[in-house]
Amino acid sequence: MTQSNMIDPFGRAIDYLRVSVTDRCDFRCVYCMAEDMTFLPKRDLLSLEELDRLCTVFIEKGVRRLRLTGGEPLVRKNIMHLVRQLSRHLKSGALDELTLTSNGSQLERFATELADCGVRRINVSIDTLDADKFHAITRWGKLDKVMRGIEAAEAAGLKIKLNTVALKGFNEDEIPEMLCWAHGRGMDMTVIETMPMGEIDGDRTDQYLPLSLLRTQLEKQFTLTDIPFKTSGPARYVEVAETGGKLGFITPMTHNFCESCNRVRITCTGMLYMCLGQDDSADLRDALRASEGNDLLAETIDRAIARKPKGHDFIIDRRTNRPSVSRHMSVTGG
Ligand code: SAM
Repeated sequence: MTQSNMIDPFGRAIDYLRVSVTDRCDFRCVYCMAEDMTFLPKRDLLSLEELDRLCTVFIEKGVRRLRLTGGEPLVRKNIMHLVRQLSRHLKSGALDELTLTSNGSQLERFATELADCGVRRINVSIDTLDADKFHAITRWGKLDKVMRGIEAAEAAGLKIKLNTVALKGFNEDEIPEMLCWAHGRGMDMTVIETMPMGEIDGDRTDQYLPLSLLRTQLEKQFTLTDIPFKTSGPARYVEVAETGGKLGFITPMTHNFCESCNRVRITCTGMLYMCLGQDDSADLRDALRASEGNDLLAETIDRAIARKPKGHDFIIDRRTNRPSVSRHMSVTGG
């Protein structure tokens, strides 16, 4: 495998790119967005061809894993055209993995085609298995539709990981049941701490559940053993003896995982963010549109990687009631 030629000032090799293909979503999860969101004008978005060109330059520079996210990636018009185009890099061996993070609402429609394009693994975000609570947390989502999406993905042979944001007073008591459900179906699960990104309608301090607390609660019921298993993401995994499955913890708040960060992110307008939790960015759309060749783009990427910060500074407490970064998670993608 070729080593990435994108090395940041802290010696971290960047080989993982997350691309938000749209900031729009068919859900309005209460911790993620305000109900009344203003989305970017469609004319500001990169075209699918531009997204493909951008991803290809990153792959040429050493990206081995590509994740499409959003917003909801599967609501972007003609998204499968982009997935099919990108799949040529899987076939050529330039890319190890092409994957997606999805809310599952459109999976029933797209699962077979995703598998056909070489997607092997997807993350599906679900915070509860109770239909009424699901509707309440997503504001607009229907759990049965997502369940049909999961079934379609399973039938297509896609490996699914469940992503669950741990929310105080909302799902903390349900997580054992979700864990048994996910592991019973052969899905791994990851729990995530809520991050202070973007203005939402509520108060994040009311939602924030440190995963150190959740782990202590889970250990009353399950035997959790730390394991060295890693995906390309930031989760630290345990094996659950009672279910035989893996549970990941993504703990940006209680345990800073930045030292091993191998990722950068692009928004649907072509802004490159070197850190999910910092504001510094580079405008790749200008570089993309300024010339037909890719030299300027490659140089702009190199200059940005040279500024990748050491880590984020997320804080959630009563005194810090402003988001750490003003953009919502749906802009930079999860
Ligand atoms: N629509 C897709 C989905 O639902 O997975 C992809 C985008 S969504 C922004 C990606 C992930 O970020 C989801 O698992 C979501 O629950 C999570 N997320 C959104 N806002 C968050 C926040 N403020 N803190 C932690 N996780 C968040």
